[in-house]
Amino acid sequence: MCVDVEDMIKELKALIEIPSIVGEEGELAKYLAEVLKNYGFTPELHRVEGDRYNVICRVRGDRPGRTLLLNGHLDTVPVASGWRTNPFKPKIEGDRLYGLGACDMKSGLVALLFGLKAFVDTFEDFAGEVIYSAVVDEEGFSKGAKALIREINADAAIIGEPYFAIERPAVIGATGKLLLEVKVVGKAAHAFRPWLGINAIEEASKIISKIADLEPIIDSRFGKIKPAVLKIEGGYERYNVTVPEECVFQVNRLTLPEETEEKVISWIKGIIESVDLKSKVEVKIRPPLYKGYVVKKDDPIVLAFRRAFIEEMNVAPKLSYYANITDANVITGEGGIPSIVFGPRGGNTHMANEYVELKTVEKAAKIYALTIKEFLALG
Ligand SMILES: [Zn+2]
Repeated sequence: MCVDVEDMIKELKALIEIPSIVGEEGELAKYLAEVLKNYGFTPELHRVEGDRYNVICRVRGDRPGRTLLLNGHLDTVPVASGWRTNPFKPKIEGDRLYGLGACDMKSGLVALLFGLKAFVDTFEDFAGEVIYSAVVDEEGFSKGAKALIREINADAAIIGEPYFAIERPAVIGATGKLLLEVKVVGKAAHAFRPWLGINAIEEASKIISKIADLEPIIDSRFGKIKPAVLKIEGGYERYNVTVPEECVFQVNRLTLPEETEEKVISWIKGIIESVDLKSKVEVKIRPPLYKGYVVKKDDPIVLAFRRAFIEEMNVAPKLSYYANITDANVITGEGGIPSIVFGPRGGNTHMANEYVELKTVEKAAKIYALTIKEFLALG
């Protein structure tokens, strides 16, 4: 299958030139829809909120069959300090293209698009359907992916994040994540006679010390997992010689796919009960909340990807589970659509001087095209 590399690089540059920092994806969504139209596709803009749209484009074969979702995100993180070049003026040096979102993940978006184009150019008739989607807010709260799974269904998905399956394995499973809010309610008293009150901050610190002293869990799939306290608030805003009545803190807790919310709540309650407290403690789950997931190594999408990768690269892809969060937590964890996370290789993501290796953008596009072929043909 033939990928038009020159056009693809041209489009990658155009996408980088349109800033799309999380929350401001509107212009890029509209531009990408125009690009899809120019290639003969029929994209739709689906408003998520305000001027934020998911781009969704369905390509139907002439016979019923499997549906494959190709997904990427439109948004980037904000500009970090230390850029040598203008982050919105893509610059090529050797095989590297520098620019904000070059790697995470505007290269993934164009590679998925040109992979799809190569597939439809090669196969005039095919069974099933391919859905191309570019969503908002991956770097925020995954509102785009959440809206997407309410609107579409698919038998499998490829997510074009920068895991090139050579050094950095493609992702077939990830932990989930919960944010726990713990509220400790004590009793106010004059701070010169603290024994008359219950100091909520001192009580909270006992729970926090317990959490800090926990040994990390070693999971055979995800490796080392340990909760972390992220934020604490307590006492009075104005200077006040009173024993603090209230203290609230948040705990970031990665979760295993098998762990339900109830299990995590009883885990934290167990820790709280193990400490000798006089205060009352309430526990709540706060957003963002992501579900963990595991895709089996013999799932049809993994097999299709594996064959496609070997055909193009002559080696087997590396696959792995990660302690990490991407839109796959929404699409697969929440939506139940098995996925593989694979895309072009680069570096410095979420940092200055982000780049992508252009040769891998071409390779990824070809592997996407071959995976579509394998997956739809297998159905
Ligand atoms: Zn990303």
